[in-house]
Amino acid sequence: MDKRIYLSPPWVGAPERKAVDEAFRSGYVAPCGPMVDEFDRRLGILSGRHAAAVASGTAAIDLLMEELDVGRDTIVISSTLTFIASVGPAFHRGARLVFVDSDPDTGTMSPRLLERALWSFKLRPRGTRLVVIAVDIYGQCCDYDAIEALCAEYGATLVVDAAESVGATYRGRPSGSAGVAAVYSFNGNKILTTSGGGAVVSGDPKIVKRARWRAQQAREKAVWYEHCEVGYNYRMSNLLAAVGCAQLDRLPEVLRRKRRIFDFYQALLCGDKRPGRQISPFPCGDFTESTRWLSVFLFPTKKERDAVAARLAAANIESRPVWKPMHLQPAFGGCKTFGGEVAEDLFRRGLCLPSGAGMGPAQLRRISKAVRGEA
Ligand SMILES: *Cc1c(COP(=O)(O)O)cnc(C)c1O
Repeated sequence: MDKRIYLSPPWVGAPERKAVDEAFRSGYVAPCGPMVDEFDRRLGILSGRHAAAVASGTAAIDLLMEELDVGRDTIVISSTLTFIASVGPAFHRGARLVFVDSDPDTGTMSPRLLERALWSFKLRPRGTRLVVIAVDIYGQCCDYDAIEALCAEYGATLVVDAAESVGATYRGRPSGSAGVAAVYSFNGNKILTTSGGGAVVSGDPKIVKRARWRAQQAREKAVWYEHCEVGYNYRMSNLLAAVGCAQLDRLPEVLRRKRRIFDFYQALLCGDKRPGRQISPFPCGDFTESTRWLSVFLFPTKKERDAVAARLAAANIESRPVWKPMHLQPAFGGCKTFGGEVAEDLFRRGLCLPSGAGMGPAQLRRISKAVRGEA
C-alpha cells in the first residue's frame, strides 16, 4: 500500500527544527520568552492589528468570550457552517446559540439572514446582549464590510473566527481585520502550524493586553500571587512560538503552493460543463482572495461525492466532507437557525481534498488517478 496522503498535514522542516533548537539553547523552555514576543509582533504585522499568541484557537475564542462577558444573558449568533470550536466557548458559558446559514454565492455567513436574525432580537429583554461570531472558512474571508455594518446598526458586537483564513485578504485588508477582535489558529492541520496554538488579534491594544494577562492566570503586579480576577493558563510556550516564527517565513511559499494545488484540482475536476454534470469549486466571495487552505469542490450529487471519496480512501488518500452544519449537530438540537438549506447542501455535496503544501507531483498524480478511478 502506498504511503497515506493526508488532508492537511503540517509542512515543516529544517528551519522549524533550527528555531526550536535555538529557543531550547537560549534557556527559555518555559512559557513566555523572547520568541513569544517576537511571534506576537509578527502576527501584529500580518493582521495589521495587535496580537497575542495563545495555546490554541479555541483558547483565543474563550478569552474573547471572557472579554465580552458572554454568559446566560448573551445571544451568540454564529455561522452554522463551521467547526464546533467557533461556538464551544460560548456554549460552555451558558449563552444562547443562534445559527445563520451561508450565502450560496460566498459559502460564508449570509448578511441577509444575519439581518433577519438581528432584527428578530430587536425586542430582546433589557440587559440581553448580542454577539456575532462570523467565520472565515477554508482560507477565505466572510463579508466583513456587510457584517460589520449590520452589527453596528443592530448594536451587536462582532468577533471574527479567522482560524482558517490566516494569510487571506478581504478587499485588500488582512484576514482577521474586522470586528472588535478576531482569532487565528495554528493547529497542526491549519495553514501555519505551531503544532498547537492560536492568537487573539484586535485593533484595540487593551483587548489584546487583557487577553495576554488572562492567559497567564490574571496575575496582578506583586511579588506574591495577587489576583483581582480569575484567569486561565492559555499561554503559548516559547518553543512553539519559535516554530511559529519559522512558519511565518514560509507563508508566501505556502500560499503559492496551496493555490497551485487548487488550480490542479480545478483543471482535473471542472472540465465537464454540461448542466447537471458540473463539479464546481466551493463558493467564494469576489471580495476575498482565498489562501485555498483546503481545496474544496462540490459534486453534482452526494452519490458522486461519496464515490470519489471512496476511490480516494481505497488508494489510502484522505478526504473529508465539508463541515457538518452546527444546526444539524445533536449537541445543538433546538437552537434557532435562520435558513440552513445552503449549508446542508454544501455538507451533502462538498468534498475537501488533500491540500498539504508539502505535496509533490508524484502525490498529485496518485490523487488524480484515484479520482478518475484509474488507481
Ligand atoms: C481550527 C478551528 C478553530 C479552533 O482552533 P484550534 O487551534 O484547533 O483550537 C476554531 N474555528 C475554526 C473555524 C477552526 O477551523
